[in-house]
Amino acid sequence: MSYDKIEVPDEGEQITYDEDEDVLEVPDHPIIPVLHGDGIGKDVGPAAQKVLNAAAEATGHDIAWMDVYAGEDARETYDENLPQETVEAIREHRVAIKGPLTTPVGAGFRSLNVALRKKLDLYANVRPTYYLDGVPSPVKDPEEMDMVNFRENTEDVYAGIEWEAGTDEVEEVRDFVEDDMGFDATIHDGAVGIGVKPITEFGTKRLVRRAIEYAIENDRDSVTLVHKGNIMKFTEGAFRDWGYEVAEEDFPEETIDEDTLWEEYDGEAPDDVVVVKDRIADNMLQQLLTRTENYDVLAMPNLNGDYLSDSAGAQIGGLGIAPGANFGDGRVLAEPVHGSAPKHAGKDKANPTAMILSGKLMLEYIGWDDAADLVHEAVESQISEHRVTYDLERQVEGGVKLSTSEYAEEVVERIEDLA
Ligand code: NAD
Repeated sequence: MSYDKIEVPDEGEQITYDEDEDVLEVPDHPIIPVLHGDGIGKDVGPAAQKVLNAAAEATGHDIAWMDVYAGEDARETYDENLPQETVEAIREHRVAIKGPLTTPVGAGFRSLNVALRKKLDLYANVRPTYYLDGVPSPVKDPEEMDMVNFRENTEDVYAGIEWEAGTDEVEEVRDFVEDDMGFDATIHDGAVGIGVKPITEFGTKRLVRRAIEYAIENDRDSVTLVHKGNIMKFTEGAFRDWGYEVAEEDFPEETIDEDTLWEEYDGEAPDDVVVVKDRIADNMLQQLLTRTENYDVLAMPNLNGDYLSDSAGAQIGGLGIAPGANFGDGRVLAEPVHGSAPKHAGKDKANPTAMILSGKLMLEYIGWDDAADLVHEAVESQISEHRVTYDLERQVEGGVKLSTSEYAEEVVERIEDLA
């Protein structure tokens, strides 16, 4: 396979996917596309690559990185934001990692992150949120947090169906809503922007199915559907109803709902079942702080998932360490939760932990668990000694402030010592 501006490494081989068995076939030396992204992506990306290379090497593996481009880099090279060959290269190679991409607010182009997730049908954004020993936290018992957030990635108000105030289109939609659909006098007079919030049975069920599968495979206690169905009955309410439906239809033996938990088991779930429950999103934000230990795997529509996962991340050290990955069927694009933080860009100062731990998720997905464990252990031991980047150093007593590259080098040394 060849591309116009992307150089395919000679020595690597492509990862493939057996659709019938739903398994990846990973060669010894897989080609993995890497998109460094904008802003601090250029600092944290190379740092994370060094750490991932060290972990791979220490466990008898090898990664053939293939640079692909979007955002600022692509504007320079291709004169566009998201070249088709970048999308194709990630699609074909199935497993990739990316840094953050800047999205202008209001005017300008739409989010490239959202576009990539949609084009590649990466429907589940998964953000594990767990405590690493030594991380400074604003809460008393941060170690109680051990959640995995599944955020739907392709629909909701993020679908991009919206019309700008002052356009003919928005007035047409207003007329349709008021005159044809009977919502007369619901929208105030004057300028209006209108967006549409699609939540489908298909989109909901495949996301919730994936969350339940994860909970079963990883011995988790519960899956909580987080919605605002009391107000948005036919979208968020439908998300909750379809979520329960998929549990009943696809996992009748492996799941019970909360009513059954109390009626039949007096609140003590048997070891081998996952309790499926639901919470209203505003209550859930409160429960994250007050009843942290009661939550395990969360499944959410797009916007709730965005808010909830940043908030949960803040409890265990914030954006500098929060990893994530976008999953489709037989496909992953790992990426940290944080953005491009332009004011820190190019200063060799940003925290690469979130990017490194996103890489760890990628390693797990390709079945390199030994390498993933090494990454985890090395990062945790580094942070527990408070040898950290500026964002964590300012929050701990007696911390040693390291640059992005110094931090990565020390993590690499720890991997070599641990191996
Ligand atoms: P941001 O995450 O870039 O930064 C917010 C603040 O968090 C920073 O100012 C910094 O203090 C801190 N921070 C973030 N990452 C850090 C790190 N690795 N180390 C240390 N401190 C860190 O959020 P923002 O300022 O709202 O967004 C900036 C740009 O990034 C916007 O264009 C936004 O659209 C984009 N963005 C992209 C993604 C993505 O690519 N997936 C995600 C979020 C935001």
